[in-house]
Order: sequence, then C-alpha cells, then structure tokens
Amino acid sequence: MRYFPIFVDVAGKTFVVAGSGEAALQKVRLALKSEGRVRVAGETPHRDLVALAGQGRIELAARRFEAGDLEGAALAYGAHGNATLDEAFAAAARARGVPVNVVDRPDLSDFITPALVDRDPVTVAIGTEGTAPVLARMIKARIEALLPAHLGRIAAMAGRLRDRVAGLFAQGRPRRAAWARLFERGWQDGAGAFGSLADALDAASREQASQGAAGRVWLVGAGPGDPELMTLKALRVLDDADVVVHDRLVDRRVLELARREARFIAVGKTPGVPSISQAEINDILVAEAAAGHRVARLKGGDPLVFGRAEEELEALAAAGIEVEIVPGITAASAAAAAAGVSLTRRGRNHAVALVTARGADGPAEHDWRALAAEDAAFAVYMGVGQARFLQGRLLLHGARADTPVTVVENASRDSERIVSGTLAMLPALIRSNGITGPAVILVGLEPARAGAAAATLKTRGAA
Ligand code: SAH
Repeated sequence: MRYFPIFVDVAGKTFVVAGSGEAALQKVRLALKSEGRVRVAGETPHRDLVALAGQGRIELAARRFEAGDLEGAALAYGAHGNATLDEAFAAAARARGVPVNVVDRPDLSDFITPALVDRDPVTVAIGTEGTAPVLARMIKARIEALLPAHLGRIAAMAGRLRDRVAGLFAQGRPRRAAWARLFERGWQDGAGAFGSLADALDAASREQASQGAAGRVWLVGAGPGDPELMTLKALRVLDDADVVVHDRLVDRRVLELARREARFIAVGKTPGVPSISQAEINDILVAEAAAGHRVARLKGGDPLVFGRAEEELEALAAAGIEVEIVPGITAASAAAAAAGVSLTRRGRNHAVALVTARGADGPAEHDWRALAAEDAAFAVYMGVGQARFLQGRLLLHGARADTPVTVVENASRDSERIVSGTLAMLPALIRSNGITGPAVILVGLEPARAGAAAATLKTRGAA
C-alpha cells in the first residue's frame, strides 16, 4: 500500500484550486461536498465557476494563481492541464507545506483523491493507486447498488441517538446488539422505520427484554446461477445473514457473496438420492431463527416456483418466526432469455405454464389435452429424466410431432447449453447431447435465434 487512506477534517478549512476549466470545476464540486471553504484562481474561469462565485459558494480570482492564494490552505489542487503552470503551483504548495494533488500528474502529487460513494456522513472511498480508474468506477457502481440511499440519514440519526441508547442498554454486548437491530431495521425498511426513533428504540428494548435477540428468516431467490441476476435485496440480505441455508442448485458464486463469517448449511436434495427431508429442513430453519440468528434461506431461481416454500413458511409461522420473501428470477425466465425467445407473443400464445415433470412420487400428471393444444406454450422443470414420458403423454393427446422444443441446461451459468428440435426428437435430443444438469424444456416456443433448427448446440463462453 503506497497510498495510505485517511479521512481529513476540513471543516472551516480552505481548499485551493488552481485552474479554470472542466478539471478545476470537477475538483471544486468535489471540495464543495465537504464542510471546507473553496478558493479558486484561474484565468478566464468556466462559467459554472463564475456562477458558484456569484452564489457565494466559492471565492474566485479570475487571474493566474499567486503564491499568496495558498495562504492558510489545508489542501491544494492543481488543475491547469498545463505542465509549466501545474509544476509552479505544486512547487508553491510544497514550499508552504500544503499537501497538493495535480490532476493526472502523480509525480507532482502528495495525495490522490479516491472514487467516492457518498452517503454523508457515511463515505466509502475507493482507490486503486492510479492503476485502474475504470475498475474503481466499477467497484463504486457495485457499492452504490449495495448501499441504500437512506443510509446517510440512518447514520446521522444514530449519531443523535447515542446518548439515549447508552442510557437504555448496558455497555458491551447488549448495546452492540441494540445498535445492530436498529441498523438492521433502518437498513431493511428504509429511513421511515428508523425515523420514528422512539418506536424503534422501544421495540429494540422490548425485543431485548423478551428474547435476547429475535431471529428472522428471509426466503431468498438466488436466481438461476449468474450472480448478476440476483436482486439488490437478495444481495443485501445475503450480506447480512448469520446463517445461510442453501439448496444444491444455488451457484457457488452466489454463496461467495455471503458474509465471510456466515455459517453455511447445505440442505441439497439430489433427485433419486436419499437426502435430507423437508421436515428436517424446516426444523433447521426454526432452530436457527429461534437461536436468534438471521437466516437466509437461499433457493435456486424464485423460491415460490417449485421450491416447497409454503411448507417452510408454514413451519416458521407455526413457530412464530418472522419471515420475509425475496423473489428471484426463475429458471424459465433465464432459459427463455438464453434461447432468445419470449415466453408470450401476441398471436402465438396468450398464456404460458410452468410445469413440473415430477410429482411427489413419480412423473407428474397434467391436463395433457390442454398442454397438447396447438397454441400451448409451457416450460417444463425437472423434465430431463422424464422426457420420454412427457413426449408420450403429449403425442397421445394430440400434440403435433413437429412442436418446437428447446432444452436449456444450466441457464445463465458458464456451462449453459441450448439445444433445439421437435417434440418427436425430444428424448434423443437430451440423450445424444448428454444433458444431465438442471434444465428447462421450453415447449411450443420457436426460438427466435437464427440457426436454432434441429439439434443446434451452443456452449456459453466459447463464443
Ligand atoms: N425455484 C427454482 C426451481 C426449482 S426446481 C426456480 O424458480 O427456478 C429445480 C428445477 O429448476 C431443475 O430441475 C430445472 O428444471 C430448473 N432449473 C433450476 N436452475 C436452472 C438453470 N440454471 N437452468 C435450467 N434449469 C434450471
């Protein structure tokens, strides 16, 4: 670490910016975010600088800088974009012991300015020591997405609440727990909930009195695999959870987004292999939440699609545990996106069904006549092992042999594969392409992609 990050108190102190163009304006805008004063010197100043001076927000000298401008300066920015002027300015600042930064000239700079995520008074500073500004911007965008807009208000309120909290909760663990619960509430529910401070505090002290710590469960959709297809809310919950109870289908890259200290409990059920029962999963969720933990119950796709969500919700309700549901992108949506086909289309299909091929014991039965109809379109989950059964039932009930089918395996993952053909060839399509992973079979939806005729095979990442 060549550049050491610190936060400098600039309240009432002076920033000096030398220069008069866009670059100077940028530094001025940055400095104006602070409680410091801003003094600018530069010939023919940018009209926004003139306007800021007119509003009394900056002190502006419409001329070349003079050494005297640095009088009483806390920090100096050189932004002439002219080597001679910038070098002279840097030398003048250094002569007076004022730390200086010159735009695009690390050799003339004592400090660099980080990329900022500003939720004043919460600030996140991001630096790459000048190696990768674009990366810094990407990191900034991700952190921006992660931090709710009202975070600053929460922190500001916390500052005002310190004494009250200190009076209500004993120092150490109880006080830390109270803060954690307050922030949790403010973070999840917005500043509104945190806004009625008295209520929040009373609730926090009641909770503490009643059970020490109230556990909670979030039933979270992890999406089809690609972590970028998770919702911001899922990300936040995951980042906050003490315990993550996850299915086999949840992508490793998604699990990596959880807090490093979080405890992971895999409750994966592999088809055809004796594994943990739903009742055992319910018991784990209840026990973990009852122990005061914040539990993220992560399920592939959307938890409310073939996810046995209601069984878990009922078990938690029976135990009096609070649950929040965070929906996710279901596999059929990801499969359709991968295949470039819309799940509905005017004049083609006015409805789309999500169908499971497996029932509680054995193949699932459906209203096959409806599914076999010419304009029917549906997405089959858990269908790979039941392709022959599916094909047989549909043909028996009058489906056309040339009904288009598209199998999307591992949608949105690096291992994604798409194969297309007709209902007549469905089992062969799956067998000959060696499809064994989680896959959705889209039936009655002609893939729009060119060349998606019989048995086209596309491997993601190879492109
Ligand atoms: N709740 C999940 C579905 C769970 S059932 C959701 O909303 O997506 C499990 C089935 O989902 C698998 O058998 C497969 O049919 C489908 N599936 C899950 N992830 C998938 C993926 N990335 N690509 C294709 N199909 C997937």
